[in-house]
Amino acid sequence: MERVFKAPAKINLTLDVLGKREDGYHEVEMVMTTVDLADRIHLKLLNSNDIRIEVNKGHVPANKHNHAYQAAYLLKKAFNIQTGVAIFIDKKIPVSAGLAGGSTDAAAVLRGLNEMWNLGLSLEELASIGLQIGSDVPFCVYGGTAVARGRGEKLSFISTPPPSCWVILAKTPAGVSTKDIYGSLQLDNMSRPDTAGMIQAIEKQDFNGMCQRLENVMEPATFKLAPEVNMIKEKLIQFGADGTVMSGSGPTVFSLTRSDAKAERLYNGLKGFMEEVFVVRILGERCEDFKK
Ligand code: ATP
Repeated sequence: MERVFKAPAKINLTLDVLGKREDGYHEVEMVMTTVDLADRIHLKLLNSNDIRIEVNKGHVPANKHNHAYQAAYLLKKAFNIQTGVAIFIDKKIPVSAGLAGGSTDAAAVLRGLNEMWNLGLSLEELASIGLQIGSDVPFCVYGGTAVARGRGEKLSFISTPPPSCWVILAKTPAGVSTKDIYGSLQLDNMSRPDTAGMIQAIEKQDFNGMCQRLENVMEPATFKLAPEVNMIKEKLIQFGADGTVMSGSGPTVFSLTRSDAKAERLYNGLKGFMEEVFVVRILGERCEDFKK
């Protein structure tokens, strides 16, 4: 039996780093939401006792380093499952982009195998297993719109999805290492996201308020290491985006707009000189509502 599970990307509407912890992780505060740009995870149960993995993009590891593989492995080990699974990842989310591509694949495998192996685990239990793989996996297990604190695993959900709009995502080929960016963060004397204001804007369905509060403290560090990311942000602003910010540690930058014409203009403006540009909807969809 084969089943397909949807694994949507996330974007950061705000991202604040509050400091470094003794365990090496950074304490963050960020508002995240799901967008309609998704990988599809095909799961097929096997009688043999192994995990097989295939990905339709050559540069994504198709081995134990894949986050989806790790999710299957953790469940198999924890519940002493003696059969196996074949995982095929149909990848649409750009890789190493700040969109939680690997984390969302892992989360979809956790949700999928929980059903297919009849494990009966709650989303909370799946999120706690997922945290062993990465800090964004717990959010990806649930989906929706949430403020994430701690290292990303302490989630407070915002019950209203953000006002519906277009999201124009643009990823330059710049390879930015999250570790290097954390290493060069200068947090003193810089403007910080208004997290409370962002939550309020979402709850009030205040689109302009949401756009005004898009902010990411990692931008200066990423822009210094990869100036082309800043160039894309400037272009989007020039093309008239209502709000523009970088997602995660980059290099993806996104703009929001409610206007169909503006979304088209931004897309066409960027597509002229870069490859990975996407126009999707902001969803804020919870995993219960993910459609295949
Ligand atoms: P985040 O936003 O959570 O920091 P990201 O979107 O920046 O993540 P990913 O696309 O998850 O980055 O890729 C980060 C690294 O993880 C890459 O080096 C990639 O090779 C590896 N990786 C492992 N599993 C996957 C997967 N299923 N999909 C994509 N990348 C994966």
